[in-house]
Amino acid sequence: TKAFEHDAIRAQFPTLSQQIDGQTLCYLDTAATSQKPQSVINAVNQYYQLNNANVHRAAHQLSARATRDYEAVRSQVQGFINSNRVDEIIFTHGTTESINMVAHGLTAQFDKDDIILVDTAAHHANIVPWQQLAKQTGAIIKPIPLNDDLTIDVDAYEQLLSLAPKLVALTHVTNALGTVNPIIELTQKAKQAGAITLVDGAQAIAHFAIDVQQIGCDFYVFSGHKMYGPTGVGILYGRYQILDTLTPMLTGGEMIKTVSFNGTEFGSLPNKLEAGTPAISAVIGLGAAISFMSDLPSDLVEQHEQTLLHYLQQQLDQLGDISLYGAGPNNVGVVAFNLAGEHHQDVGILLDQQGIAVRCGHHCAMPLMQHLNLKGCCRASIGLYNNKQDIDLFIDALRKVKELLL
Ligand code: PMP
Repeated sequence: TKAFEHDAIRAQFPTLSQQIDGQTLCYLDTAATSQKPQSVINAVNQYYQLNNANVHRAAHQLSARATRDYEAVRSQVQGFINSNRVDEIIFTHGTTESINMVAHGLTAQFDKDDIILVDTAAHHANIVPWQQLAKQTGAIIKPIPLNDDLTIDVDAYEQLLSLAPKLVALTHVTNALGTVNPIIELTQKAKQAGAITLVDGAQAIAHFAIDVQQIGCDFYVFSGHKMYGPTGVGILYGRYQILDTLTPMLTGGEMIKTVSFNGTEFGSLPNKLEAGTPAISAVIGLGAAISFMSDLPSDLVEQHEQTLLHYLQQQLDQLGDISLYGAGPNNVGVVAFNLAGEHHQDVGILLDQQGIAVRCGHHCAMPLMQHLNLKGCCRASIGLYNNKQDIDLFIDALRKVKELLL
């Protein structure tokens, strides 16, 4: 079994060893973006220092190296999420772009009054592109209702599926609350109803193993920067038969077979959906991030994160005057809360003054906030590098905020 020496793992993240205003940085905002290990930073540097060239184009050696390294990451991603074919992996700029590419790419396949089911707790990135598609086609969006504990109401979901929706847009793990949806069951039911399925995995990918074939979805999307990789790269996984039907959102170089003024023939997957020069350095950094994660004992990492999250939930609960939202034993990565009647931004500022980084606001989930009748809330989120001391620093700081405000 692989070793799990937490101090040594944490020490690989240079940002975490700095002080903020003379206090130890306590980073609890990994759900917004994760910190990067030295190996990822080195991989990006090395590409620029040694191998910088455009991919796929030139015959020279630097380009060959860049192309080799870029395409090797595609295979790495394929293995990481267990997709069936390497050309089912499309490099995008992030989850947002991936979902936009699917919504744009399917527009021609939609008719007026086609139904799209969308998770009420979805991130705006998994709502707004469908609204744009609906606007253009006359399709109808129906939110999937939530239970009191803010999990998906499966009975209501089944009723909506009886309307034979054309597409179902699901969230694997919600970013605002950390709710883990029973994604295999939800996807299976949608498939039985004949719907196309897209799963937003942005908050799942860093926390547990993903197997897209086991989930059985048509599309699975995520961002590199939330899984210890660089910003600027994301993944669109699509089942080949349906991925190949998407109308490209971007057209131009790289994605064609032939071009003449009589017309253009598009190339095949994956190039057809990767017009223009991609974020080569970010892709190479993503490869290093996958290597970093794959070298760790995933079961022990998961256990560590779950122990920390439960400790965090319990400490918040014990502090008093705290409202927790949708916090359950099966959640992953995230705790959402407010301090009595205090504004979440005030709490955030007072925490920041003590070196604590959390996020406060609507978390790009305004429909969920409306459902909760909230303007916003604070969110503390963890990554594999966090430790018990981070939680204790956070709780101590929040206790001071409470004494100050209440
Ligand atoms: N979906 C979820 C669930 C997210 O957490 C995020 C990032 N906050 C996104 C989509 C959008 O990701 P990105 O900003 O990297 O495109």
